[in-house]
Amino acid sequence: MPTKTHVKKVQLELTSNMNQERGSRKGHQEGWQWRGNARALAKKNRAKRKHFGIDDDNEFETKTQKEFVISREKTGSEVGIVASANAGRFHVFFKGKYIDCALDSELPFVLGHRIVVGDYVTVKQTSGGLVIDHLVERKTALSRLRRDSTHWGDISARDEQIIVANIDTAVIVAAIMNPPFHPKFIDRYLVLVQHGGIKPIICLNKCDLLNERSEILAYYQKLGIQVIRTSAEKSIGIEELKQAIRGQSAVLVGHSGVGKSSLINRITPVADLRVGTTTKKTGKGRHTTTSSELLIWEANSYIIDTPGIRSLGMWDIARENLQLYFDDIDRLAVECTFADCLHDNTAPELCGVIRAMQQGSLPLQRYESYIKILREL
Ligand code: GDP
Ligand code: ZN
Repeated sequence: MPTKTHVKKVQLELTSNMNQERGSRKGHQEGWQWRGNARALAKKNRAKRKHFGIDDDNEFETKTQKEFVISREKTGSEVGIVASANAGRFHVFFKGKYIDCALDSELPFVLGHRIVVGDYVTVKQTSGGLVIDHLVERKTALSRLRRDSTHWGDISARDEQIIVANIDTAVIVAAIMNPPFHPKFIDRYLVLVQHGGIKPIICLNKCDLLNERSEILAYYQKLGIQVIRTSAEKSIGIEELKQAIRGQSAVLVGHSGVGKSSLINRITPVADLRVGTTTKKTGKGRHTTTSSELLIWEANSYIIDTPGIRSLGMWDIARENLQLYFDDIDRLAVECTFADCLHDNTAPELCGVIRAMQQGSLPLQRYESYIKILREL
């Protein structure tokens, strides 16, 4: 829940309306072109349609459900962004301030479950106050696989649970030490983030503690991913981080204790998130946040703090599509004898990826990350 000072600050800062804001976000959205996503999505959708024997993904939706989601073009200026969503009550940042509202009572209650933090919604005035009457179609979504098979009624939620929407950039936060640095975690988050159509940035925090890891970070930079070294403690690299997420909607992902809350506090001092104290035993931070919250730290600049994506399970990716999220492996795959090679050691002498790994041009860690995730799919 936003604090009073927070709301005040936001009111002062936000003079622009949502239309201007959407305009400025558009430019950014076009900037990140990840070639694997469209291919992977098209393939995934084809498989889904074949499996259910339908041509239209939305065939199972009722008319009201279909009408609830509207295209970006159809929205007027009355658009708000969902800052928090809890049990049918929503905090919406609307016309420069936070409003408290519910779903339009004329709509089926279940549609409220579709709305997540980061969603754009249209708001209308009723006798009972302001209500949400439409969900604007999403640009990106970060999701996890829903294991609960009782949600069959809602086709869009059948295989994935959307946690946050319309994120432009995900900052993958790792600590240089304490908790120990594991580049494989970075690889996992890279898959997840890119699967959501979101631009990744790597942030190596706690760099006040140690000055290492240059080699692997340089490798990620070579893959075209921005890498920022920060220290939330000593306020190092914060400006660079702010610059990288300014004018966007960003989310911080990463394991507990790496310093996400501390970084958010540096970016937006009004946030005042509680920083977990690192337990001596595990070296991991304890965390207290329980639900996602969107914070505005500058005009048109949002940061979403979400405990839901701190640790994510497996997602919905076909095995043959996994390499699309490993740009280096995808490029090396042209050297494989068989087009459907999964590079999993079935015929090492015929695999260009394994050859590159043996010759040292593909880091062993990258190959191992790929294989480990492949085995989980
Ligand atoms: P989160 O779980 O990722 O949100 O991590 P927290 O922000 O709660 O931080 C976990 C612990 O790491 C806290 O004790 C912080 O004080 C500490 N911490 C965070 N950032 C830094 C940093 O840049 N340097 C150092 N030395 N400690 C930090
Ligand atoms: Zn291969």
